[in-house]
Amino acid sequence: MITPDWCPGCGDYGILTALKMALKELGIPPEKSVVVSGIGCSAKTVHYIDAYGVHTLHGRPLAIAQGIKLANPDLNVVAVAGDGDALGIGAGHFVGAGRRNVDLLYLVFDNEVYGMTKGQASPTLALGARPKSLPRPNIQGKVNPLLMALAAGFTFIARGFAFDVQGLKTLIKKGIEHQGLAIIDVLQPCPTYNDLHTRAYYAERTYDLAETGYDPELPAEADAALVASKMASFTAKALEWEPRIPVGIFWQQRLPTFEARLAELDPNYTRLPPAKRPASRDLGPLLAEHRL
Ligand code: SF4
Ligand code: MG
Repeated sequence: MITPDWCPGCGDYGILTALKMALKELGIPPEKSVVVSGIGCSAKTVHYIDAYGVHTLHGRPLAIAQGIKLANPDLNVVAVAGDGDALGIGAGHFVGAGRRNVDLLYLVFDNEVYGMTKGQASPTLALGARPKSLPRPNIQGKVNPLLMALAAGFTFIARGFAFDVQGLKTLIKKGIEHQGLAIIDVLQPCPTYNDLHTRAYYAERTYDLAETGYDPELPAEADAALVASKMASFTAKALEWEPRIPVGIFWQQRLPTFEARLAELDPNYTRLPPAKRPASRDLGPLLAEHRL
């Protein structure tokens, strides 16, 4: 491990601390954990944590994280990405992953800018917003990560605040424990380039969704009317911003994971996933045996 070199006051420090605390409290040993990142300030996380780490390509952490999990389902896999990583260049993988429901956690470091390349507008910066890094107000609209996640099919959807370390730690633990694809959109101040949404801005406005009696759970037996009602509540909360910003779990439902669906097709998958099968240059018999 090396010492983090993020700017002083960066929200990334809070996210890193919360992730480390969550892994420690869940008792997941370093050799059972893999953290996968893309490109950007958030991507350095893998170098600062005592676990296996893969620093991949811009927009690709989710693709590679799914491959790792499917090759060895015994591993705890956490993918980390910036907002540009996740919702710009990686948006296709975001949607594809939602359709699969692989059992892993996606942590999105959402600071509304491309911090590593001097603060250009990211996909989560609102139309007309002008942080100090932009010469003119943003002329593109924003995407809402929570709404996108529901549309794609993520089965655990949450929002956290980087400097509410205890609260974020709890969300990360629940996201890891969830059986399926979990996302936490983390409101992450970037004091170097974004002077609109600062630590103080979020600290004054964020509140815990659970304290309002909001129930994120979609029961397995939900009929169409209940699904519609839950989606309406979810949408209202996902869009709420001023004067208060909700954080917590917005959506959770239990659906078979992609791994469970693979196991139905291939009886050997659970006992002998790809990472545990003998390596062979001769793929012919393996392909024949495991023809899907
Ligand atoms: Fe953090 Fe912004 Fe500095 Fe990147 S540029 S390390 S996101 S404060
Ligand atoms: Mg960013």
